[in-house]
Amino acid sequence: MTVDRILPTDEAHDLLALTRELAAGELAPRAADFEARGEFPREVLRTLGRSGLLGLPYPEADGGSGQPYEVYLQVLEILAGSWLAIAEAVSVHTLACYPVYAHGSERQRKMLPDMLGGDLLGAYCLSEPQGGSDAAHMSTRAVRDGEDWVVTGTKAWITHAGHADFYNIFCRTGGAGARGISCLLADAATPGLEPQKPERVMGLRASAPAQIVLDDARIGGDRLIGAEGGGFTIAMEALDAGRLGIAACAVGLAQSAVDYAVAYAKEREQFGRKIAEFQGLGFLLADMATQVSAARALLLSAARLKDAGRPFSVEAAKAKLFATDMAMRVTTDAVQVLGGAGYVADHPVERWFREAKVLQIVEGTNQIQRLVISRAL
Ligand SMILES: Cc1cc2nc3c(=O)[nH]c(=O)nc-3n(C[C@H](O)[C@H](O)[C@H](O)COP(=O)(O)OP(=O)(O)OC[C@H]3O[C@@H](n4cnc5c(N)ncnc54)[C@H](O)[C@@H]3O)c2cc1C
Repeated sequence: MTVDRILPTDEAHDLLALTRELAAGELAPRAADFEARGEFPREVLRTLGRSGLLGLPYPEADGGSGQPYEVYLQVLEILAGSWLAIAEAVSVHTLACYPVYAHGSERQRKMLPDMLGGDLLGAYCLSEPQGGSDAAHMSTRAVRDGEDWVVTGTKAWITHAGHADFYNIFCRTGGAGARGISCLLADAATPGLEPQKPERVMGLRASAPAQIVLDDARIGGDRLIGAEGGGFTIAMEALDAGRLGIAACAVGLAQSAVDYAVAYAKEREQFGRKIAEFQGLGFLLADMATQVSAARALLLSAARLKDAGRPFSVEAAKAKLFATDMAMRVTTDAVQVLGGAGYVADHPVERWFREAKVLQIVEGTNQIQRLVISRAL
């Protein structure tokens, strides 16, 4: 089903057409196979980078594509509809470019063209085994040694661990609490930065997260991003925008589930009729389609606030909460529409159902989104 989209420019229409072409030609044919083998699709990401899709919302002057968030998110939506691991990778990479883009020194910002062009893949290392939702409770510590920082600790659940070229390491350089946290930019080759074995995940197996152990990892003093003690603010700013990316992934995944379920229901016959003709199923499909449209509207309204330079973090939290809960419901219902066929890997709804779950957890669980929203009421 083609979604009727109102886009701000002709360029945006062309960009979405290019994205659909890439999704159909490069993503859809590979997704099931890479997911089954748990292989990270680095080459596919390079192709997206060459097509300008890895730095979409950043200014052209920095090597990005200068697209408004409302366009970037619709690109993500289309990618997620074909292969969530790729859309999530684009979203995480875009998030990982934020600290250098918004707070980097002139020297650090010289890396932006390679980051935004996709030559360098990024990772964002905030979570720890003991500091998840309560990220400010982190214990990874960096101490000064001459000009350098020496970092010790463990970051957990890191997307792109072992594949990234640069890592944003949030770590404690001062006392307890959020104000004691700084952000360091580490190269993959940093001695003492050791990616661990990938986690055995429920979904997103082509891009499984892993721990990063920092064992006296030595990072140059010129790699502090922003001010000492300013790291937590940078992390939260990045997440505000990142949450819109996760919401877009949810909308794209759910749209594919609706489209697939509708097509199946129009083919499958029981009791001598197409199952789509049973009102019980038709109403289920109607509710699924309506929820996807509602989530997209909420997402785009938050994105347009961001594009207009207005405060958007509470609206981003609402969009992330609503869209990802919606994707879980809609993919569950898509399995139901297919009956037994929905429960086996021959149809992608089985994978989409497993993948939807992670979106309710990453970049702040949906309980944390409710916390953000309720505090603002
Ligand atoms: C596939 C995957 C990829 C990830 N990628 C990254 C990454 O690239 N970088 C990164 O830094 N992190 C990443 N994460 C980590 C993710 O952000 C955390 O898993 C998430 O923030 C939750 O932390 P936790 O797992 O420690 O759960 P916990 O914080 O232990 O939460 C457990 C439960 O308690 C609830 N809870 C906690 N506090 C409250 C509260 N105050 N009120 C109500 N309920 C509460 C939570 O909602 C949850 O249901 C990834 C996780 C996964 C699964």
